[in-house]
Amino acid sequence: MERDALLSGTVHPGGRAPAPGRLALVQMFVNTVDREHGPDLFADVAGLTDWLGARGLLEPGVTVGAADLEAARDLREALRSLMHANNGAPEQPGARAVLEAAAARAELRPTFPVEAPELVPGRGGVDGALGRVVAATFAAMLDGSWARMKACPREVCGWAFYDRSSNASATWCSMAVCGGRVKAGAYYRRRRAGS
Ligand SMILES: [Zn+2]
Repeated sequence: MERDALLSGTVHPGGRAPAPGRLALVQMFVNTVDREHGPDLFADVAGLTDWLGARGLLEPGVTVGAADLEAARDLREALRSLMHANNGAPEQPGARAVLEAAAARAELRPTFPVEAPELVPGRGGVDGALGRVVAATFAAMLDGSWARMKACPREVCGWAFYDRSSNASATWCSMAVCGGRVKAGAYYRRRRAGS
């Protein structure tokens, strides 16, 4: 995938609509890597800086460090594993603890604006930015939209997609891209086993 396409956060295989509201930020955060073909925007500090800048999450003058990069990668994969769990996979132990640690580093605190209560980071910098991703996840878990936030089970894919099907039964990011390939592979293996 083109780096700019990944950075734009607008790639949605299968013509799916993005996740609603702030959950779209979590979806974009997880979809910062094309695991099959590259690139990975969080492969280096420059990429993470670019992504945070593109999302308006980096105050001027903040420099991103190696520890920030590791924290972002850990949080991304913890969120992906929970999205796999939303798609029927066993939950990865420790994933929720990664979210809790990121929330603590960001010093998330409840606020009560007239429109709706929300969690906001007490810290700035990358800790605060990652805290906004965690806060959006928290809100989605409370309003129920989180259950439809899934990761594609094809091993090299893992793309985060929002399942808008009426009975929340979608499995693949795209039937054409991943569902078809996995089914074709299963057909091939059955033929070989039978011959
Ligand atoms: Zn996929």
